[in-house]
Amino acid sequence: MNPPAAIIPPPVPARAVAPRRRCVRHEEREAVARCVDCGGGFCRECITEHENRLYCAPCFARRTAPATPKPARRSWSGLRPLLLGAGSVFCLVLGFYLLGRVLASIPSDFHDGTIWREAVGR
Ligand SMILES: [Zn+2]
Ligand SMILES: [Zn+2]
Repeated sequence: MNPPAAIIPPPVPARAVAPRRRCVRHEEREAVARCVDCGGGFCRECITEHENRLYCAPCFARRTAPATPKPARRSWSGLRPLLLGAGSVFCLVLGFYLLGRVLASIPSDFHDGTIWREAVGR
């Protein structure tokens, strides 16, 4: 009576037991270096040296790419001081206008000093 073959585990190949590190992007290539940024193993073709450190292509591109702010945000940030300046100028003009109105509304005899004599009844 032979036991069923399924119970006996098939011999696993040595390669599967101790797998060599493979390139993340190239399954058939051996990883020669590790990216200091993402920690992935990469082959010689995928790895790039930058400032004496090894990066994979995506990490290298991310590090060397210039920081580009969003255009919509940039236009708003450029517009904001303009709006603030226009607002402050408007407030200044309005303030002077109201001051002029108040000064113009004061009767001219106020400056004579007669208004005070009338108020106190001489
Ligand atoms: Zn990386
Ligand atoms: Zn590779």
